[in-house]
Amino acid sequence: MSVRPPDAPISHTRGVQRLLDSYRAIPASASVRLAKPTSNLFRARTKRDAPGLDTSGLTSVIGVDLQNRTADVAGMCTYEDLVAATLPYGFAPLVVPQLKTITVGGAVSGLGIESTSFRNGLPHESVLEMDVLTGAGELLTVSRDQHEDLFRAFPNSYGTLGYSTRLRIELEAVKPFVALRHIRFDSLDELVATMDRIIDTGGFDGVAVDYLDGVVFSPAESYLCVGIETDTPGPVSDYTGQQIYYRSIQHPQGIKDDRLTIHDYLWRWDTDWFWCSRAFGAQHPSVRRWWPRRYRRSSFYWKLISYDQRFAIADRIEKRHDRPPRERVVQDIEVPLKRCGEFLDWFFAHVPIEPVWLCPLRLRADEDWPLYPMRPNRTYVNVGFWSSVPAGATEGATNRLIEAKVSELEGHKSLYSDSYYTPAEFDELYGGETYRSVKRAYDPDSRLLDLYDKAVRRR
Ligand SMILES: Cc1cc2nc3c(=O)[nH]c(=O)nc-3n(C[C@H](O)[C@H](O)[C@H](O)COP(=O)(O)OP(=O)(O)OC[C@H]3O[C@@H](n4cnc5c(N)ncnc54)[C@H](O)[C@@H]3O)c2cc1C
Repeated sequence: MSVRPPDAPISHTRGVQRLLDSYRAIPASASVRLAKPTSNLFRARTKRDAPGLDTSGLTSVIGVDLQNRTADVAGMCTYEDLVAATLPYGFAPLVVPQLKTITVGGAVSGLGIESTSFRNGLPHESVLEMDVLTGAGELLTVSRDQHEDLFRAFPNSYGTLGYSTRLRIELEAVKPFVALRHIRFDSLDELVATMDRIIDTGGFDGVAVDYLDGVVFSPAESYLCVGIETDTPGPVSDYTGQQIYYRSIQHPQGIKDDRLTIHDYLWRWDTDWFWCSRAFGAQHPSVRRWWPRRYRRSSFYWKLISYDQRFAIADRIEKRHDRPPRERVVQDIEVPLKRCGEFLDWFFAHVPIEPVWLCPLRLRADEDWPLYPMRPNRTYVNVGFWSSVPAGATEGATNRLIEAKVSELEGHKSLYSDSYYTPAEFDELYGGETYRSVKRAYDPDSRLLDLYDKAVRRR
């Protein structure tokens, strides 16, 4: 059975046409960019030199095929809208990134991860086919069988090879509730060993685990958050009101149990943008009480951040208090699980940021994704840290140290935020010659930006 609003295919066709018209209206000398109302990109971007592509008609779910467990979505459809369309039928995407306005196209071209990644890999692995507007202005359907080179180079290309206008992705069945077990550790080595065991056996305490991530508050206080889907009705917690999810994890010792609806579990981090809402005072009880519920979401905090970036509010406050300037350190990195303890020990000794998020991942299959190469059959751990530190003597001093450490440990870094690699280091990590040959084939006149220019030179 398929669920499809009657006018969805026609309105999608119109949306694609508007995108193509706007592409053709951009002068050949100007670079092509997206015009999107939301973003989860943390790099400051240089000012646009031309109007962006019109994506206004490419934000919807086109249809859900319940029998084949797939969804067809427009490239700029947010996961919030996609999940709202699939959950009523008991289905969800295989990986649901935790910020509501991340789009399916954005998560595939810019990577995404969540607590199903230890069994379902990364969002691009569950894409069956995509329509892509290439830099050459062609609309191509790409898959494992058609234009495979573009299909494989698309993840981590950040819109520099083309823009996906439609994606067909796999779905999985989900149950209405998630039983949570928050396990406390006073040793990071023990946490990593337990994570390894859960992934190896697929279970904890003899029960199959569906979701797995963790939070480290300090080397002496860390937690694994184990989620088990269940049909059993019963009371659930609510962290969209006065209670704060990441604080609820903390307890003196052992295991603390909790329950959420599947909807609230998927969006558990969005309400407080993990913990970053504390920077705006939104976690202080007296502020939180009047903070409208509809504004307790990552997209609203984003607006506050963009005001800060535009008017340098935080820098001015630091200056007024005679405090030194700060360096933004907003990053997600991956290291092999075997090196995770080593990375965390180094991190807490050198980078004054807490808490940090941990999320294990394994590729689903032995497939080649050249712009973000990872070894199959190997468990990695994503470590996310989003804050700032006192600025060092050189620009990006702490970010550079982190890049060097991650490379030393055979890891990788996502490119949604600041990067400082040299061209040679970047080539080595993110596809080099393979990227250039796909770029030549699908964007011969360089209408789209180059990946290094975009990710490192912030163009
Ligand atoms: C603080 C923070 C924490 C994060 N944590 C996580 C996390 O824990 N898990 C996770 O999964 N992700 C996380 N992300 C990363 C996020 O998933 C990526 O930045 C993703 O690319 C954002 O997608 P978006 O739809 O918001 O796209 P945008 O931010 O608008 O764009 C991101 C890039 O993708 C390109 N792009 C957008 N749409 C398309 C398209 N349809 N086709 C081709 N290219 C396109 C854009 O050109 C741009 O270069 C985090 C980001 C931030 C800032």
